[in-house]
Amino acid sequence: MVCFFWGGFVSLAHSQEWLEEKSKHFSVEYRGRADLSTAQKILRDAESYYSKVGDLIGYTRYSDFWTWDQRVQIYFYPDKVSFMKETGQPEWSTGVSASHQPGVTQRAIASFKQSQDFFDGLLPHEVSHLVLHDFVGDLKKLPLWFDEGVAQFQEAKKSEIADRMMRSYIAQGQYVHLDSLMTWNVREEKDQTKVNVFYGESVSLINFLIKKYGSSAFNDLCRHIRDGLPFEMALQKAYTNQLNNLQDLEDKWLRTMK
Ligand SMILES: [Zn+2]
Repeated sequence: MVCFFWGGFVSLAHSQEWLEEKSKHFSVEYRGRADLSTAQKILRDAESYYSKVGDLIGYTRYSDFWTWDQRVQIYFYPDKVSFMKETGQPEWSTGVSASHQPGVTQRAIASFKQSQDFFDGLLPHEVSHLVLHDFVGDLKKLPLWFDEGVAQFQEAKKSEIADRMMRSYIAQGQYVHLDSLMTWNVREEKDQTKVNVFYGESVSLINFLIKKYGSSAFNDLCRHIRDGLPFEMALQKAYTNQLNNLQDLEDKWLRTMK
């Protein structure tokens, strides 16, 4: 899933009439009573992902910060055609989120009725982005690969699938050195293989850090990033005596992938 952000949800509130269900941190806007039970499931799942990603990045340690100022709105369209028409999204898009855009003060996710992919993929992915962005504050502190890696880590089975794919790419010498990954803006990339490598490598590295060194060090890493340390320094500080620099992380990750 190629992920991008969207600044156009504000006008949705004034388009066709929505029904609404609310939970503590989310509200679901949907179009027909027939979708009520789906809306309730979306809220249950969204709250569960909210807690999970909060634990993963260490947000839940700071309970004072642990509230949104406003609920995240999830616009759930009955079909793809109305989703495309009202959000201006292209044919291939399955959903979109808005956060931390200039002039946008509210967080929102929009998607449409579709397969299980919404619950296993898009919803955890987009909720993770929103929580991580809220925690870090300024997106300039966050390397894009790290942001996408954390978001994909929440998706069901994504790490397993990505590890399998990356093993095969690495065997063919196709992966990206970490120093290049740090500055790669995949949103400008047209080559699909390179896009696959970007997303696969991102989640594989996050999976490696968490499985190999545990969640407490990963919490520290996220906190140092939030506090504004450049990524490599944040890494060194969180993984003292374990990871010396970016190259060391790359070498150790590669060793587990062969
Ligand atoms: Zn994403």
